[in-house]
Amino acid sequence: MKVVSTRSLDDALKALRDAGPDARILAGGTDLMVEMESGRTHPALVVDVWKIDALRQIREMQDGVEIGALADCGALIRSVQVARHADTLIEAARTVGAVQIRNRATIGGNLGTASPAADLNPVLFALGARVRVASTRGERELPVEAFVKGYRTTDRAHDELITSVFLPRRPAHELRFFRKVGTRRAQSIAKVVVSAAVAFDGERVQAARISAGSVADRTLLFDGLAQELVGAPLPQAAKLSEFLRRHLDAAAAPRDDVRSTARYRRFVLQRILESSLRSPAQVR
Ligand SMILES: Cc1cc2nc3c(=O)[nH]c(=O)nc-3n(C[C@H](O)[C@H](O)[C@H](O)COP(=O)(O)OP(=O)(O)OC[C@H]3O[C@@H](n4cnc5c(N)ncnc54)[C@H](O)[C@@H]3O)c2cc1C
Repeated sequence: MKVVSTRSLDDALKALRDAGPDARILAGGTDLMVEMESGRTHPALVVDVWKIDALRQIREMQDGVEIGALADCGALIRSVQVARHADTLIEAARTVGAVQIRNRATIGGNLGTASPAADLNPVLFALGARVRVASTRGERELPVEAFVKGYRTTDRAHDELITSVFLPRRPAHELRFFRKVGTRRAQSIAKVVVSAAVAFDGERVQAARISAGSVADRTLLFDGLAQELVGAPLPQAAKLSEFLRRHLDAAAAPRDDVRSTARYRRFVLQRILESSLRSPAQVR
């Protein structure tokens, strides 16, 4: 196996262009090194991008915040700009692994792995993130839900690199939350992870994006559920419960695995949404 270590985006993109589909990008390595160690992947070439500092920046723009793909969870937690635009992303980053992992685990790597149990991705879905990718052919930007295509599968072409994630400015009066349920509070992979952003115009729901992980083969965006919420006040207790059951039964497809059962996951997903959507204290 060959390793190309680069400090510039141009060099990384040229290396990816020349390498073909057998190359893998190495950012913090907290997923890739595990895959390589376990023999799940044998790349012919590893393009190490960790030292490309230009991809580490977090920039506040007029309409939101741009987070470089190499921003790690520690940097997200410390960022004033992220706190201002994406408080739930900080909550999620705090739950990723232990401090050593958080100081290597990048936002681009979380997206690149596209694990159904990833913790940052449901927040990116809920906040309407756009993923920016580049190759020697040019740049493009796509909604995060179009980027994550399936089980550990993304829309990235083999010569493309995620350069940043853009998060639009949040509306006033938005209910936002992040919840992760694992075996214990620290250092656990999610049994269920949920995030949402529901904006209000007075009592009425103006816009809603609700997402969950570990309840299907990929991070899900509950589009149908959100569409039905828009234009009216949130349904009251019993109605909300029935409403959620109807949508989640159709949209979620949890499985039994080493971490949990499909039944428990369905139950917890519904309970988290029920209690969080009822809690006006979370309107920020
Ligand atoms: C002990 C341990 C605990 C963990 N706990 C959690 C947890 O609680 N929650 C959680 O969500 N995850 C957890 N993880 C998984 C991992 O830390 C995260 O998914 C992390 O965000 C991966 O980032 P990375 O920079 O290390 O990615 P890498 O391992 O470097 O890369 C991961 C994948 O993304 C691709 N990639 C990386 N950067 C880019 C880019 N810029 N453009 C395109 N593709 C790219 C790589 O080719 C690879 O396929 C844990 C891992 C370990 C080892």
